[in-house]
Amino acid sequence: MAVSIHRLDYKSLSEIIFEWRAADRASLLALFMVMEVSLHWLWCLFVWLWQDTYGTYVDMGLLYPMWIGVTLIGLFFWWMVGHLAHIKNDDKYLHQWQIVLITLYSVYIAVVILVMGHSSFVSGVSLVGGAMLGMMLVRRRYIWKAFIGHITVIVLVSLVPYLGIDLPNLRQLTFISIPLDTYSYLTYSETISIENAMATSIFQNGTLNWENLDQLRLSSAFFWRSTHLYLALPKAIFIVYMFRTLLLILDNGKNEILKHANQDELTQLNSRRYGLTQMKQAIMTATDKQDFSVILLDLDLFKGVNDNYGHEVGDQVLREVGQSLSSALTDKAIVSRYGGEEFLIVLPDTKHDSAMVITEQLRQNIAQRVIKVDTELSFQVTASLGLYTLTYVELARIKQGCMTTAHTNNSKSAKLKRSKSQKNKPTTAHNLDMLPIQLPSNICQYLISTADKALYKAKDRGRNQVVSANDLLAEGHMVNATSATNATKSRYGT
Ligand code: GH3
Ligand code: MG
Ligand code: MG
Repeated sequence: MAVSIHRLDYKSLSEIIFEWRAADRASLLALFMVMEVSLHWLWCLFVWLWQDTYGTYVDMGLLYPMWIGVTLIGLFFWWMVGHLAHIKNDDKYLHQWQIVLITLYSVYIAVVILVMGHSSFVSGVSLVGGAMLGMMLVRRRYIWKAFIGHITVIVLVSLVPYLGIDLPNLRQLTFISIPLDTYSYLTYSETISIENAMATSIFQNGTLNWENLDQLRLSSAFFWRSTHLYLALPKAIFIVYMFRTLLLILDNGKNEILKHANQDELTQLNSRRYGLTQMKQAIMTATDKQDFSVILLDLDLFKGVNDNYGHEVGDQVLREVGQSLSSALTDKAIVSRYGGEEFLIVLPDTKHDSAMVITEQLRQNIAQRVIKVDTELSFQVTASLGLYTLTYVELARIKQGCMTTAHTNNSKSAKLKRSKSQKNKPTTAHNLDMLPIQLPSNICQYLISTADKALYKAKDRGRNQVVSANDLLAEGHMVNATSATNATKSRYGT
């Protein structure tokens, strides 16, 4: 049986939630029920052992049948722990047993709350805590139904005394010297009034001495309040602990998912998608006087590395190049694996001259790095790099241009939408192209495709070199795409 209560720590609980079969989880819930029933059983034992003292507060005639009931139900839940864990893949059978478990537990708790006296603390913990725990471990639909059933029982139990119906109650209230035997159901506020009256009778001179304290300790009010704490507190603490752990698991799970979505598994660099997201953010947050540089790096003749040494060695090269890039660059740089053997490096707030120095340094680092596969095999690779720096003046102009274009197009498309909606036709994708939300994407595309043209030139000129798109533009080897919306598709990169 997979169920064990020894270690309900973070790791075990996350295994239970993510890896355990439904049958094991239901079995664990049955085990929690056994634990709770055991507490009730111990309470019965305690009252029985000290019946000389507590026998006046507890209706012993009702205690014995209850004790037998608690024992039987405890044994049944214990049997369920093993039985549920052994249900293999029969979902229908498992669901039937889950219904039996939940129904029996709900009825049992309702009876316990009823005969132990109606305490809002015990009912609240059982209602909310039990439902929360159940939802983690068995079919939520069943728990939801049981929850509604439980609320109905609580409402009924609260109302029946007003209909003149007496419900069985273990509680016998005692006024210190005058025992008040009663089966009759007392509402919570009635109980409180009686208990307050008893407390007042103990505080005779407005002070509480040791003798009085002992009297208070032995009063039925104290006994029943302690009983309710005993019934509710361990359960409340346990459930809060479980939920704290569950939230930890969810937080860590979320971070793990984000890490997988944002990180390239092979190189541990940013993924293409996340790199682009960060690039967009950097563009949006670039202030007035900040130039913006972008480098596109492609390994030279990398296919040959795979062909000559195998794919795994190719992977090792990619990992090492990734390390080389991240160790050479500051935290401000955004480095991502853009494609197979292509890397995108974004340098916010970097002027062209500094960016050129950095790009050349990256090229040298890669060319000088010796890739050691084993004692006999080591080799070097080279990379070609294309750089493009957008000055803050150009960036402002493009942003402005896009805004204007977007604005014009928005009003056009608004008009178009209006006329189209009149005809009940959907807006075309073309109209959406120019919405302002796409502005940073267009600038990214423009920057990358311009850097890509420089990279293409670097390959053309014999590889293992850096080419600046700004130089190409200045020399007239390249036409400047004056607006982000004119950006062409990448010629070299992916
Ligand atoms: P060029 O200098 O013109 O860039 O030549 P190249 O061989 O680098 O370019 P090409 O585009 O022909 O080949 C790229 C190769 O990169 C092909 C592909 O098998 C390899 N590649 C892409 N992703 C991975 C990867 O994750 N692991 C490995 N080992 N190889 C990859
Ligand atoms: Mg390539
Ligand atoms: Mg290549």
